[in-house]
Amino acid sequence: MPSATALAAQPDPMRVAYLDTLISLGRHLEFYDPTGVRFGLPTYPFKWAPTHLATRRQLRNQQLRPGGQPITGQILWRHRGTLRVAYLYDVNHAKTKRAATPAQLVAIRKALRARCTCTTCGAIKPYYIPRSLGECLDCAPGGA
Ligand SMILES: [Zn+2]
Repeated sequence: MPSATALAAQPDPMRVAYLDTLISLGRHLEFYDPTGVRFGLPTYPFKWAPTHLATRRQLRNQQLRPGGQPITGQILWRHRGTLRVAYLYDVNHAKTKRAATPAQLVAIRKALRARCTCTTCGAIKPYYIPRSLGECLDCAPGGA
C-alpha cells in the first residue's frame, strides 16, 4: 500500500491539534482557519498560532527579521468592536537581525565624516561635499 498512513501520521504544522479537537467536538471557532479558505490566509485566534509562526515583533524579540519572506498567516481578534490583525512569518525562514557592530558603527561615522571633508582644503564642513564639485563650496570656483 502507498504511504497513506505515513502521511496521516505526519501532523500538518499549520494546524493546531487542540483547536482541531474543539472543532471535532462541535465548537465554532470564528478565527481558526488553518487552510485560509475563509480569510485568504491561514488564520488563528489570538495566542493560538502554531509555534513556528511569529509576528514581526516576536521575531525582533528573538533578534530575527522576516528577511523578505511572504506573510505566512495571520492572527485575527476583536478589540473594542473592531477587527484587529497581526501578520505572521515562518520562524524557519527568518533571518538574523542585522545589528551594526561597534566596528561597523566606527566605519559608518568615518564614511560620513569623509563625505563632509573637503579634499582641497581638508576642512570638515557641516554639509556633504557636492560630488559635482569635488570640493567644498569655499574652494569651488564661483563658490560662496
Ligand atoms: Zn575646501
